[in-house]
Amino acid sequence: VRSGNIKPESIRIRDRILPVCSHGECGANRIWDFPTCWEHLTDAERQNLKERLAAALRSGEDLKRIVLTGADLQHFDFTGADLREAFFNGCNLSNCKFVDADLHRAFFGVANLTNADMTRAELNGTVFTGAKLEGIDLAALSISFGRTPINITMRSFGDYGFRRRPHIDESHPYFAEATYRALKTHFLKEGDYDSASWASYCERLMQRKVLWQRKNYLKWITSLLFSAVCGYGEKPKRVFFASLAVVFLYAIFYKAFHLITYVGKPDTVTWVDSVYFSALTFSGMSFSELVPHADPFSRLLVTTESFGGIFALSLFVFTLTKRYVAR
Ligand SMILES: [Zn+2]
Repeated sequence: VRSGNIKPESIRIRDRILPVCSHGECGANRIWDFPTCWEHLTDAERQNLKERLAAALRSGEDLKRIVLTGADLQHFDFTGADLREAFFNGCNLSNCKFVDADLHRAFFGVANLTNADMTRAELNGTVFTGAKLEGIDLAALSISFGRTPINITMRSFGDYGFRRRPHIDESHPYFAEATYRALKTHFLKEGDYDSASWASYCERLMQRKVLWQRKNYLKWITSLLFSAVCGYGEKPKRVFFASLAVVFLYAIFYKAFHLITYVGKPDTVTWVDSVYFSALTFSGMSFSELVPHADPFSRLLVTTESFGGIFALSLFVFTLTKRYVAR
């Protein structure tokens, strides 16, 4: 008997009494039906565990309340398994599949679930405290009544900050982006293209916030411009209003700097003439009476506006097609 320090035979975790590892002073709980914890399994025992687990999953064996604390189970396929109240705490479950699995009250404390697929898994009461969830496929839509997903659309979600309806938590854009992406995929699968468009736009907004957080300002400005001119290809109206803004902006330049003139009638150009000239230039038409001066600045402005017009027209067709026809 050593120093009177008696090792307890069992340990209590989340209302479960689990036998303790038989190895020396180790106080961790045993794994599955083995006499030790994962740390103290031999390589052969670990191999045996994985093979038996894989066999049990294949044959649809009952794995309710199974204790797999700390196990390294990357790439395991738990599709459709009954894993109610299972212990996966501290497990490495990256790239695992839990599609359609029943994870009612399962425990994933500090587990690594990177890139795991929990599509349509039953997540009622599932605990993810401290777990790594990067790249995980689950999203709100996995939370179901029974096994039928709730019939959600973009109207199911309120704006961020509007508390009475569920909303996506945007305080961590990196994770919100993944959630919107999962929603977009879900809506596309359901054929709800309006909701998919909304989720896609929100996803890009989150991407922009991530760019800002990472101080990637050049890409952030590009993203901001793309958003302003066409709402990331989801908002055709924005192309129209951006075009109007461009036409008026150029008109102001033409008039303010006296860059255009009537042939043979100098200094008779009005503000209306200027807007008219700008609109024609933007739409790619020339107007023989009203011409730019021969200086490089005037010509540069006229050229860029013409190019802008061609670009805007293509963008409008592209956005309209993407929004209402394609997918
Ligand atoms: Zn141990």
